Amino acid sequence: MRCARCGGLMVREKFEDLGGLASGDHEYAGWRCINCGAIVDPLIAAHRRLTSQAAASNPALTTA
Ligand SMILES: [Zn+2]
Repeated sequence: MRCARCGGLMVREKFEDLGGLASGDHEYAGWRCINCGAIVDPLIAAHRRLTSQAAASNPALTTA
């Protein structure tokens, strides 16, 4: 896999899901560029969307 930003070599990396979302997955794989350090992981973007959506428009999720 090549880095979209600099064309460098990307290596498989494991990331921890520190957000503790309800997915149940606390570890997931992504890609990191060994040249510029860019991280490519669609899950990161997905998590950002989910968390912002949950905070903005889903108070029901936090009902105890
Ligand atoms: Zn790069």
